[in-house]
Amino acid sequence: MPKQSKKKISAAPSWLGLTDDRLSFVFLPDRAETVKKIFELAIGGMGSYAIANYLDEQRVPTFTQSLQWDHTTIDYMLRNRATYGEYQPKSFAAGHKKGIPSGAPISDYYPAVIDKATFDAAQAARQQNLARRGRKGNNLASIFGGLCTCAYCGSEVIFHSISNVQVLVCERVLNGACSRSAWTYKDFEITVLAFMAHPVLLDKVNEGQRSDLLGLVVEIEGLSADQARRYVRRVNISVLLKKIVASIIVHSAGRLTLPRHSSAQIRKDMGGRFLEIQLRQGPSYRCISIG
Ligand SMILES: [Zn+2]
Repeated sequence: MPKQSKKKISAAPSWLGLTDDRLSFVFLPDRAETVKKIFELAIGGMGSYAIANYLDEQRVPTFTQSLQWDHTTIDYMLRNRATYGEYQPKSFAAGHKKGIPSGAPISDYYPAVIDKATFDAAQAARQQNLARRGRKGNNLASIFGGLCTCAYCGSEVIFHSISNVQVLVCERVLNGACSRSAWTYKDFEITVLAFMAHPVLLDKVNEGQRSDLLGLVVEIEGLSADQARRYVRRVNISVLLKKIVASIIVHSAGRLTLPRHSSAQIRKDMGGRFLEIQLRQGPSYRCISIG
């Protein structure tokens, strides 16, 4: 685990402790769990602001005297290679308060709280997140970020507002390059969650997915039961959905549709609309709107 050196260690990452003699690191299980959770939420598509809100709502203690989580702390942690044990030596030449990298990084220097694959997955999710909505985005208006694609053109189906009605619609909607019908977000969410919570699905998923699905069902059922934890539940649902579902293909306007003229009004909730849910492990299922 920690590399021993005769030299005393001056500082440890906030999620690790130091022995009294300051010669080695101490693994703090509670903090390691929090770091893991932060990476899990990031991989699930949450931005740093949303993660900070989530931790505050869950009353997860910070690693400092602060009573609240700060998004910059989360950002820093998600970019910090020390989370999987790597140490980058730095030189502190004049004018460089933060130091500049000097020499090759040393692996297995710190006790790792996550593995490199998890770190890489979080970086990829963050890039996607930043491109899509910026750091402040993601107030979780949609729990399906990045999961939905258009059956007709393969583009991403995005969250959008049409005369104050929130809908999901193919992103090529604005230039008329694709079918211009949308699906009311509320109806879409109800349809997907009703399907995911259906008891029959539990028998269809692989062993490895069952505990995630059970967790998902608990959160879905809790959504209507207690409003108080609604935000936290929606975060959990969003994260669990991405663990179980590989993609959702949206057929907004049933089987037969033609691209409409770009000046035509965007129609929504066409009869016969359906979606296909592809599980990460297992078959895909076709769902018809229940709205
Ligand atoms: Zn499309």
